[in-house]
Amino acid sequence: MFWLRPILRSHSRSSSLWVLHHSSNGYCSSFSTSSAAAIHAEKTINQGPRNDWTKDEVKSIYDSPILDLLFHGAQVHRHAHNFREVQQCTLLSVKTGGCSEDCSYCPQSSRYDTGLKGQRLLNKDAVLQAATKAKEAGSTRFCMGAAWRDTIGRKTNFNQILEYVKEIKGMGMEVCCTLGMLDKDQAGELKKAGLTAYNHNLDTSREYYPNIITTRTYDERLQTLEFVRDAGINVCSGGIIGLGEAEEDRIGLLHTLSTLPSHPESVPINALVAVKGTPLEDQKPVEIWEMIRMIATARITMPKAMVRLSAGRVRFSMPEQALCFLAGANSIFAGEKLLTTANNDFDADQLMFKVLGLLPKAPSLNEDEAEDFKEAASSS
Ligand code: SF4
Repeated sequence: MFWLRPILRSHSRSSSLWVLHHSSNGYCSSFSTSSAAAIHAEKTINQGPRNDWTKDEVKSIYDSPILDLLFHGAQVHRHAHNFREVQQCTLLSVKTGGCSEDCSYCPQSSRYDTGLKGQRLLNKDAVLQAATKAKEAGSTRFCMGAAWRDTIGRKTNFNQILEYVKEIKGMGMEVCCTLGMLDKDQAGELKKAGLTAYNHNLDTSREYYPNIITTRTYDERLQTLEFVRDAGINVCSGGIIGLGEAEEDRIGLLHTLSTLPSHPESVPINALVAVKGTPLEDQKPVEIWEMIRMIATARITMPKAMVRLSAGRVRFSMPEQALCFLAGANSIFAGEKLLTTANNDFDADQLMFKVLGLLPKAPSLNEDEAEDFKEAASSS
């Protein structure tokens, strides 16, 4: 039996394609459906990653029947990754609150009264202590987040961050930063310090973006990603769902990410954690099915990326998280806080790894690199 070309598009939301089955000895034996997720997953597996996705293709994957989407996300995942490995990352807020930007979801914006206590840039001891604790708890990537619009004109703070990067890299961990917009030279300096990845999310679609942030543009975000990529640093960029956007915007976000000249190495998928005092405080919580659609579509369109089940995970049960891992997620943030919002309990995560048979993923460092930075850190 083999597949014949698709001949009719289904009328429903689920973008199934009707396909004729042929038997080896005769003619048409039956009709059944094959979803766009199935067709594109197979192409991805056979032909590898591509950057020329059309929005209609991404939509057709996203709209596939959910169980089929989940199944084919899982197939691509198993083809491109060790499906049992899940990377644990720790995200520390190294500078909290008082941010000049107006991101509607963010309790760290100085424009909203969320009762958040601000904190200047943490000193070296505090950061290294947190990194050591994270490493001991099994994290292989340490991310430092600072509530800044950008790092321009923050020479002293920026130099401190460079030092933290060197030290943490020397501990044998992957190091990531999210410090707002960067310029070209700063991206180069972070690379020299040994930064593994830089996080700068696009948040949502270009069309919906002005409803969420007005103080910097979508193009400025893309520009930062370009500087990061050009400096040779891995790109970490994803978005948030549950901001009041339409499904079209979720598809738009995935389309933008999957058509970048190189796919981000890391794609965080966040579910809004609605914080009292922010303009989005009354948003209805995201359902697990919405996360699964995002994760599986990201997995099929960007097969090699680490797809990170990020903010909002705290609301999902272990079986729900299991579905996310099956759909293609292969990284979580560990630790009691995700910047300023609550995160999953350490013991609950350990239990989850045990019950689901997950294995902590080792850091992706080459040995020379880790040695070099160890030396650099000890001589500084
Ligand atoms: S998301 Fe970042 S840039 Fe936006 S307000 Fe929060 S800290 Fe500032």
